Amino acid sequence: MDCIFCQIVAGKIPSDIIYQDKELVAFRDIHPVAPTHVLIVPKKHIPDLVHLSEADLPVIARMVKAANQLAKQEGISQSGYRLVINCGTDAGQVVPHLHMHLLGGRRLVDGLA
Ligand code: 5GP
Ligand code: ZN
Repeated sequence: MDCIFCQIVAGKIPSDIIYQDKELVAFRDIHPVAPTHVLIVPKKHIPDLVHLSEADLPVIARMVKAANQLAKQEGISQSGYRLVINCGTDAGQVVPHLHMHLLGGRRLVDGLA
């Protein structure tokens, strides 16, 4: 098992976990780019959106729900936040285990890329 997020899910690599349920874990990004930078990660190893099966689609809705709850918890619901899922090289995905970034706590740059 050489997937870093699978190792975090398994508790083999320490991380600042702020939310956990049957299917998801959320922890703070090790190199935060905003005051709130949380990664929401399915416990199941899914490499990226390309490999998301029809059966696994509901996990995306659960990730959004968790992100919204965490945004509230972080106090950024009113000021605003951004959810990002990178997929593949051009998007800059570096960890090949599906994850959603929750970013907020400052005015994020305008535009998407
Ligand atoms: P990607 O570019 O793949 O969408 O984002 C991967 C994110 O995972 C990066 O923001 C990076 O800082 C974060 N990351 C990589 N390794 C670790 C780790 O071991 N622990 C934590 N907490 N974050 C990590
Ligand atoms: Zn994995």
